[in-house]
Amino acid sequence: MLEPIGSIFSSHRFSTAFASRLTGVLDKVEARQTSDDTRLSVLKFPDSRTSKESARGGSLQDVFDSAVLAEAPTEPYLILENKYPAIRSLRTDADIGDGLWICCHCHHENILRHWKGRFPFKYLRCVRCTRKLSSDCHTSEILTPWPFGLIHAPRPAVGREIRYCHVCTTCGLSHRAEMAGTTLDFYGVTCAGCGTSSYGDWPRYHIGNVEPYRRDPDSSFANLIDARADDAAKLVYQWEMAALESRPSSSLNCRNPG
Ligand SMILES: [Zn+2]
Ligand SMILES: [Zn+2]
Ligand SMILES: [Zn+2]
Repeated sequence: MLEPIGSIFSSHRFSTAFASRLTGVLDKVEARQTSDDTRLSVLKFPDSRTSKESARGGSLQDVFDSAVLAEAPTEPYLILENKYPAIRSLRTDADIGDGLWICCHCHHENILRHWKGRFPFKYLRCVRCTRKLSSDCHTSEILTPWPFGLIHAPRPAVGREIRYCHVCTTCGLSHRAEMAGTTLDFYGVTCAGCGTSSYGDWPRYHIGNVEPYRRDPDSSFANLIDARADDAAKLVYQWEMAALESRPSSSLNCRNPG
C-alpha cells in the first residue's frame, strides 16, 4: 500500500505547505480529466456499432482466457536475491509480474503482465479505483511512454511480436501496434472492447525490457514515486507562471478551444 501523497511530499523534500498546494493541483488535474472523459464520450459510435460490440464481447473474453504470457518467467535466482520489500511480498513470478503501474488517481500499485497477441496488457484498469491507464500515470519499463512524433522503429526479429502498443482512451483496452516496414501504425484502429476508433490519439507505449524492474522492484517503485513528485512540482510551476501571465479578459478564451 502506498502512503498518501501528502505524506510522501512532506517526508521527502517538500514542505507541508507546498504539499497541500500540490494536493490541490492534483485534484484540479483529476477534475480536468473527468471533464475530458465527458467530452470524449461524444465521440462514441451510434447504436449499430454498440450492438456489434456486445456480440464481440464473448469472443474477446475467449481471447483473454486463452492468452499466453509473453515474457519468460522471473528467474528463480532473481526472486532469491531480492530482499523482500516491506511494502509487498514478492515471492513468486506472479507476485513480481512484468512491471508496475502506479495509478495517478488512487496511487494504487498495479502489477503489469505482458500477454502474447493483439491485446498485450488486456484492459489497463486500476484494480482499486477501476480508472483506466492515462498519460498521467507512472509505469515501469514494460510500459514506457512513447512520444506521438516517433513513428519509426526497427522491425522485431523473425517470430517476435512488435513491442509497441496503444491504449483505448474510452475503455482502457491495450492494442498492439502494427508495422509497415519500419513505420509504426497507430491509426484507424477500432477498439475491440468498446468500438471507439483511434485517430492516432491514444497514448502510445514502448513495451520495454522486464529485467531492470525484476532485478530491483523496490528501486523501480521508488523511481516511479520520484517521477510522480517531480511531475507535480513541474505542473505547479507551469500553472503559477500561466496565472502570472494571464489577464482577466483571457479566461473566457482558454475555457473552450472548440
Ligand atoms: Zn486507481
Ligand atoms: Zn492515470
Ligand atoms: Zn475501447
